[in-house]
Amino acid sequence: MNKFAYVDCKTVDETLAQLGPDATIKAGGIDLLDLMKDGIVAPPKLVNIRNVSSLRGITAAPDGLRIGPLSTLTEISVHPEVQLRYAALSDAAGHAATPQVRNMATLGGNIMQRPRCWYFRSTDFDCKKKGGTSQDCHAHEGENQYHAVINNGTCAMVHPSSTAVPLLAMNAEVELTSKRGKRTVPMSGFYVPPEKSLINETVVQPGEIITSIFVPAPEPGTRSAYQKYGEKESFDWPLADAGVVLVMAGQHCRQARVVLGVAAPTPMRATAAEAVLTGKTIDEATARAAAKAAMQEATPLSQNGYKTQLFQTAIYRTVLLAAGQMQRDPSAIG
Ligand SMILES: Cc1cc2nc3c(=O)[nH]c(=O)nc-3n(C[C@H](O)[C@H](O)[C@H](O)COP(=O)(O)OP(=O)(O)OC[C@H]3O[C@@H](n4cnc5c(N)ncnc54)[C@H](O)[C@@H]3O)c2cc1C
Repeated sequence: MNKFAYVDCKTVDETLAQLGPDATIKAGGIDLLDLMKDGIVAPPKLVNIRNVSSLRGITAAPDGLRIGPLSTLTEISVHPEVQLRYAALSDAAGHAATPQVRNMATLGGNIMQRPRCWYFRSTDFDCKKKGGTSQDCHAHEGENQYHAVINNGTCAMVHPSSTAVPLLAMNAEVELTSKRGKRTVPMSGFYVPPEKSLINETVVQPGEIITSIFVPAPEPGTRSAYQKYGEKESFDWPLADAGVVLVMAGQHCRQARVVLGVAAPTPMRATAAEAVLTGKTIDEATARAAAKAAMQEATPLSQNGYKTQLFQTAIYRTVLLAAGQMQRDPSAIG
């Protein structure tokens, strides 16, 4: 690991004063320290924000939910209002990683964690995402069983944030603060696909810090669910995860938002699935049709074709769970 300076901040202003081209924010430190120990990043200065108390806390108001970026995944998953009105978010936070990780991992760090791809996360490969000279994505010809099945032409990494899935489905917004002031970015514009930039995965600029995440209040009749499927029952990243938000009138679906994690390099809306569900009665047949539609645009690689089937199962079951027609799937993990 490289030598680095370590600065402890207590306020947002102190943090902003420390941020510069050589500085990296540290929240729970789970992903950042992994990357440093593996030699993938070598920041000269770590700015620890864990003691910035104003960045903690979950506030439920009539207009929505305001979550401090230092709120841990555990705190989000057990919060009564999140469980009651934002079930998909509580489920996603509560089924990420392990209890130990969830106690340390913060929401800000979770949506900002770097992508999963063993070519990116190993110093043995000159992946173009790390500035390497290799023209093609190593996963195209190499080991690609965990990689993206959609939009994988430029780079086949996946972004593993479980919480980003419901946050995108719920139209959440991220507040960014810098010395220049504040700006708000919708989750739909937060992640940058590899065709736009291979280096930046989000729109967060150097000198900016996430100071709040806002989730608008669900309209009457809204129900939501999230499920994650993987190889191990715990201590594992998703192979397929889905978040579904339905605005229902009885069994009739007035509006649907279906979001897939780890299908593409960034969390993505499955608009074809949403079109199948909207205006229909939700039952097993519509859920299955939506799941199938979502995978029409898949372009699986040599070893990850199984993920398209896994996604269909994830979408089918999460739609039925959101509609109240199925219990949480016992084979879902976390
Ligand atoms: C075994 C294992 C399994 C896992 N499974 C899952 C899973 O199923 N789902 C899932 O989502 N994750 C999973 N993870 C990843 C884990 O949840 C993340 O590493 C963690 O959420 C990162 O949060 P952190 O607070 O530790 O972030 P840090 O490591 O401190 O930071 C991560 C990044 O975010 C930036 N950052 C942090 N806070 C801010 C802020 N307020 N403003 C701007 N930038 C900021 C940092 O600069 C850094 O670049 C798993 C991890 C392990 C070890």
